[in-house]
Amino acid sequence: MTSELGIVSVIANGVKSLKNPNLASVQPFCYSSFVLYSKGDMYWLRESQLIENFYGLRSDLEKSALASYLCSVAEDFATDEEDISVIEKLLLNALYALSNDLSDRRAVKGAFEMRIASELGFLPDLNACVSCGKEPAGDMLFDVTGGAVICGGCRDDRSIAALLGEQGVDPRDVSEYFIRIDTNVLSALRYVTGCRQERLFSFRLDDSSYRVFSKVCENYIIYHTDRRFRTLDFYKSVCSDRPDNY
Ligand SMILES: [Zn+2]
Repeated sequence: MTSELGIVSVIANGVKSLKNPNLASVQPFCYSSFVLYSKGDMYWLRESQLIENFYGLRSDLEKSALASYLCSVAEDFATDEEDISVIEKLLLNALYALSNDLSDRRAVKGAFEMRIASELGFLPDLNACVSCGKEPAGDMLFDVTGGAVICGGCRDDRSIAALLGEQGVDPRDVSEYFIRIDTNVLSALRYVTGCRQERLFSFRLDDSSYRVFSKVCENYIIYHTDRRFRTLDFYKSVCSDRPDNY
């Protein structure tokens, strides 16, 4: 992923050799400056300089699996060159936080998922209940499909199941698409969609709120990209020994 050219494939001859001067800058997750030349419709690597190697990601399987998933999400959104600078900044901040243990992994994963979706066309409406327009309170639901909040007074499980049926979603999956949230989770969602990007991972939740926050953000990105990320399946398999594998 490059700022100037979007996502491109580059042929880098001989970089697996220990003597090759470009070896360090082409490792997985590395952020580097490259001089490329094009021949036909291919790019070739001429020289490079390593800027940041995010070494911490390679020393820990769970971190490296999560970093791969974040890169897949970034790649999925990077179809428009205008969006690359937003994606690049988000991804670099996330990899840096993960590599240096600056924030809880669940905060990095969820905040990255929700922020990239919000910045690139799927900003949820968290200000008011989508049904009555009041400040959401009580036993609320986050509507993954519509990106909205339904307050405790307006939630009605039967009409929600019917709505899902109309959208072709199995009503048995209602808890995947309409997720019960409390004010802590709502505040975290408001924070990650509205804060300055440099402060994106600077929040904490307790374990039960992290679980709900993670589920909301993960289901939101999966639903709106309509993708199944193999890197996410791998990340889940790596942390499957935890009851909460977000
Ligand atoms: Zn309401």
